[in-house]
Amino acid sequence: GDSHPMGSDTVSRLYNAIRDVPDFPKAGIVFKDITPLLLDAELFGSAVDMICDEHRDRRVEKVVAIESRGFLLGAPVALRLGVGLALARKEGKLPWRRHRVEYELEYGSDVIELHEDGIRPGERVLVVDDVLATGGTAAATLEVVKLAGGEVAGLSFLIELAFLGGRKKLGANPIQALLSYS
Ligand code: AMP
Repeated sequence: GDSHPMGSDTVSRLYNAIRDVPDFPKAGIVFKDITPLLLDAELFGSAVDMICDEHRDRRVEKVVAIESRGFLLGAPVALRLGVGLALARKEGKLPWRRHRVEYELEYGSDVIELHEDGIRPGERVLVVDDVLATGGTAAATLEVVKLAGGEVAGLSFLIELAFLGGRKKLGANPIQALLSYS
């Protein structure tokens, strides 16, 4: 195989470390379980490196990680980039003053919130989450970043469910997905 640390061998090992769990959390959903990847320190580190490398020249000043598995990736990415970490959370989780964006789901709606001091006006933000599915959550996060006055430097996902077309909701921003499923 390819011995380069960021080579195709690493990518196939990443694919092999994602566990498909059918009918979780409900019938018809194939849940992409990233916990086997997190158990492998070398692979986890490679995923974080690949995200940091992608945005190296985009002058990222803040990472915004999306609740909850996005936190697991966003925190090490922020540390490695040497920038701060802000949390995009579901309704009612953040204790202080917050910006708020409501977005539509298949049934009902959901809310993404960000502390008012999470991003300084004009700051260049990298948005991180584990899975890009329909794109609703990430699109709402982009909106809340804009409410706070942030500029989007890019978005990174470990996994893109490309067949759901979520990318279309994310505008012209640079989007990285380490693994893509069609
Ligand atoms: P969406 O707003 O549809 O793009 O959904 C994205 C959010 O839901 C992400 O924060 C993911 O963690 C989670 N998610 C959606 N679909 C899946 C899936 N098939 N497996 C694991 N997580 C998912």
